[in-house]
Amino acid sequence: MKPFAYFRAETADDAVDAFAAHPEAQYLGGGTNLVDLMKLGVAAPDLLIDVSRLPLDGIDETPDGSLHIGATVRNSDLAAHPTVRTRYPALSQALLSGASGQLRNTATTGGNLLQRTRCPYFQDTSTPCNKRVPGTGCPAREGLHRDLAVLGHSAHCIATHPSDMAVALAALDATVHLRGPRGARTLAVVDLHRLPGDRPDQDTVIRTGELITGVTLPPALPGSRCGYRKARDRASFAFALASVAAVLRVEGGVVRDAALAFGGLAHRPWRARAAEEVLRGAPATEDTYARAADAELAAAEPLRDNGFKVPLARNLTISVLAGLASPYPRT
Ligand SMILES: Cc1cc2nc3c(=O)[nH]c(=O)nc-3n(C[C@H](O)[C@H](O)[C@H](O)COP(=O)(O)OP(=O)(O)OC[C@H]3O[C@@H](n4cnc5c(N)ncnc54)[C@H](O)[C@@H]3O)c2cc1C
Ligand code: SF4
Repeated sequence: MKPFAYFRAETADDAVDAFAAHPEAQYLGGGTNLVDLMKLGVAAPDLLIDVSRLPLDGIDETPDGSLHIGATVRNSDLAAHPTVRTRYPALSQALLSGASGQLRNTATTGGNLLQRTRCPYFQDTSTPCNKRVPGTGCPAREGLHRDLAVLGHSAHCIATHPSDMAVALAALDATVHLRGPRGARTLAVVDLHRLPGDRPDQDTVIRTGELITGVTLPPALPGSRCGYRKARDRASFAFALASVAAVLRVEGGVVRDAALAFGGLAHRPWRARAAEEVLRGAPATEDTYARAADAELAAAEPLRDNGFKVPLARNLTISVLAGLASPYPRT
């Protein structure tokens, strides 16, 4: 491992200033992804700016009914928070479906959003990889890609984004707050991550030195329910092959509002706008849910070994929506 310096920031401004003076620095949250990548030689910052103890660890209701979550809130604390469990169960379920208890106790909200892909070639410095070393190629296209993207991929990269939490935040219309050398700004979570295009080395639209300071969930839609379901190779400690986060409001047997996001299918949490169009105003039936899934998944371009993800995502969509519309919802 390359030698590096360590600095524990006391305030968000300290952290941003320290980064501005060291462009090869990286922020350190819980370290559960970054430290692994440093050990593998994939990441080699010259300075770690520890932001895990910044005073950004609150989960606070705001006067307009939103919920503000600080960037250093641990995944386990967020999943267990009473307001999250009751008003935003999709978020709680997504967090609890990820990693392990020990990892969730350490992982932070900011770090979870910015965790890197689990593509095996990205993590193996003995292989080429356009995301790790731009211009070297993408061996996953012809090689191991069973777990990789079916939507929105490019000739340059077919990686998926691994976060479960980000998928729930995308469906819940959350926003993310950034602070950097050029000031503060707020983005929709759905606009944070990029599709790979010809720059797969860039996972997000975050600018150099920008710090995530928190995430805000808008007030839960009155009369709506939300949920998250994930398919994976084993029941814990495994990333999503496909997952679905959904918000649904049904009145009189008709879908009045719906928001849907897929995980495990693309380089970013995939907000399923075409499916939402089909759902709104349609009867709340399994046939509608299937048509909605088909409308979105028509854009899928599976590779040799990952075509199974398309029917998997379709079935997850039907199952999640039927569960939310049921008078006895699964929670
Ligand atoms: C065995 C294993 C299984 C896992 N399974 C799952 C799973 O099923 N689902 C899932 O979603 N995740 C899973 N994870 C990943 C885990 O959720 C992430 O490692 C964790 O959420 C990262 O959070 P962290 O705080 O430790 O981030 P770190 O490792 O500290 O940082 C990750 C990245 O975020 C940046 N960063 C951190 N905080 C900030 C900030 N405030 N502002 C700007 N940049 C920041 C860092 O510079 C780094 O680039 C698994 C991990 C392991 C090791
Ligand atoms: S899919 Fe992306 S991360 Fe994986 S080898 Fe190709 S370029 Fe690298």
